[in-house]
Amino acid sequence: MRRKLAAGNWKMNGLRANLGEIEALIAAHPAPECEVLICPPYTLVSAAADLVKGRIAIGGQNCHPQISGAYTGGISARMLKDAGASHVILGHSERRADRFESDELVHAKSTTAISEGLIAIICVGETERERDRGATLDVISSQLKGSLPLNASGASLVIAYEPIWAIGSGRTPTLEQIAEVHDFMRAEMVKKFGDDGEEIRLLYGGSVKPSNAADIFTVSNVDGALVGGASLLASDFGAIVAAL
Ligand code: 13P
Repeated sequence: MRRKLAAGNWKMNGLRANLGEIEALIAAHPAPECEVLICPPYTLVSAAADLVKGRIAIGGQNCHPQISGAYTGGISARMLKDAGASHVILGHSERRADRFESDELVHAKSTTAISEGLIAIICVGETERERDRGATLDVISSQLKGSLPLNASGASLVIAYEPIWAIGSGRTPTLEQIAEVHDFMRAEMVKKFGDDGEEIRLLYGGSVKPSNAADIFTVSNVDGALVGGASLLASDFGAIVAAL
């Protein structure tokens, strides 16, 4: 049985003063039915992990494919784990676009992250032009084939479907469109990982808000959400946690 996951991606937002939002979230939802994860910027991972004391999970938003070495500015999976993180988001479309991250690089990073004991959350999603020309499932299929690590198990891998045009735009696909992609991804996971593929959680991300979360969570094979903007305030993210 897959446990639902509400994951917040703070992106490049958050100062120490914002850790209060995490405290407020836990205070308002001390025993949520779903698993709750916050991925703050690197600078807050350690402080956030100390603060939550295991009551919710803390994750990173990226890591280096190597464990250590002469990579100025790099942060490794081992460092994230040491700082108290249990998860790491990899292959977010903002990094695929702005940092030119390829499927091969996401594959390398996620392989290392999993071997270091982190849960890898791998993001995939189509552009609006790709959707308009009917290429959505082809794009998702090729991203999954290229990015997924071979050392994953049902417990160590999460996939987030984030249509690029839905991120931060206030627009979301229809529930039918989300179902089509999630059912497709489930079938791909079972093809690749056998029975374990049934255990891999599939999150939807892109303009998830308190007002649309409950509907999105009714869709088949949606096992939770990866939330950007609406994860920054305890009130908004708490409402999404409650909807799961
Ligand atoms: P928004 O929820 O702000 O659309 O961002 C989604 C996202 O990119 C999460 O990783």
